[in-house]
Amino acid sequence: MQTLDQTVVKHHGKRALERCQSLAGISEMDGAILRQYLTPEHKRCNQLVAIWMEEAGMDTWQDEVGNQWGCLASDNPGAKRLVIGSHLDTVPNAGAFDGILGVLLAIELADIAHQQGINLPFHLDIVGFCDEEGTRFATTLIGSKALAGNFDPGWLDLTDVNGVSMSEALTAFGLSPEDVGNARLPKDDVFGYLEVHIEQGPVLEAADQALGVVSAIAGAKRAVIEFIGQSDHAGTTPMDMRKDTTVAAAELTIAIEQIAKQCQHNEVATVGYINAKPGVANVISGYSAVSLDARAQSDDDLELLLYKISRTAKAIASERQLELSWQWTHEAETVACDTKFQQQLLAACHANGEDSPVLTSGAGHDAMAIAPICPVGMLFIRSPGGISHHPAESVIPEDVEKALAVMYSAISSID
Ligand SMILES: [Zn+2]
Repeated sequence: MQTLDQTVVKHHGKRALERCQSLAGISEMDGAILRQYLTPEHKRCNQLVAIWMEEAGMDTWQDEVGNQWGCLASDNPGAKRLVIGSHLDTVPNAGAFDGILGVLLAIELADIAHQQGINLPFHLDIVGFCDEEGTRFATTLIGSKALAGNFDPGWLDLTDVNGVSMSEALTAFGLSPEDVGNARLPKDDVFGYLEVHIEQGPVLEAADQALGVVSAIAGAKRAVIEFIGQSDHAGTTPMDMRKDTTVAAAELTIAIEQIAKQCQHNEVATVGYINAKPGVANVISGYSAVSLDARAQSDDDLELLLYKISRTAKAIASERQLELSWQWTHEAETVACDTKFQQQLLAACHANGEDSPVLTSGAGHDAMAIAPICPVGMLFIRSPGGISHHPAESVIPEDVEKALAVMYSAISSID
């Protein structure tokens, strides 16, 4: 397995971080980072990234949905394509590295291969996805879903806060709404997708590790669990004659925490809010909604977790003589990372002196949207403090250099 010279690693790692700061300057917000889909800032970002790709010896283009591409072509015209990428859009008041760093490290890899005159046995395609966060139109992973042929034409009618539809925004950006489906990648051309991303959580920091290899992107289900009881006078209704839904909601919230803690495979379950009605201090609440977000590294684990929660909710409702109903609001299946990519990334970590752990991603990523068309692999970089989607989001420069070195070794081992 090939490894990079340390001076090369330092130079390119440093430049990737400087470029993260350059892109942070292309923002819709004064003094903070925001870059949404199909905005002038999206366009300026793509143009600057294209310049960097061209300097790295790549052919560049923007596809029909607004993703920015670069290709370092193999001498073998019949070669298949390895795609490396992440997203270039951000949430409001974002950090400078979420998504962006993965694209910029890929460009550094292409530049190194170009400068070394390496003829890769595959075309190296780099993609900067146009929308992963779903900030503008409240639907996520637009760029990567379009590649997998899963762009939903119904999205064209979604509107932003100013009432501008996606269709209108595409036209204003210079793209054709009727052509978005053509962003689909021919499945037979692509043999794999790799993504480097900051962890956005505290696991690697707690393990004192710079890097981690992702085994799976956790499946998630969200629901609103409703208890329906009876609103009554808080002064006149005796304690044993109440149908109080707030207490049931509290009991369920504590039970959900206990159930998830007792699971064995890093399952997580969160109650983000309890909404009690009528929400008045001197009225017993007759209705309470409890939000649930549950995630696990396999669909079986997730189903078992949800079964335990639902059994407990039923018992609480029955004990308190309340009606119970569930509204499912979101579902994403677990996506397993390719075992061969995991092995190659782990071997590359070892070749570079890293004893990197294997971990599950609790957050969603573009890789999960690409997985229907090709094997995917992901490398995580430690997030200091676990902080992301916040201006205090950061990376340790040495970790970034290690990620670059590991990706170079991993790619050199792909034949
Ligand atoms: Zn991201």
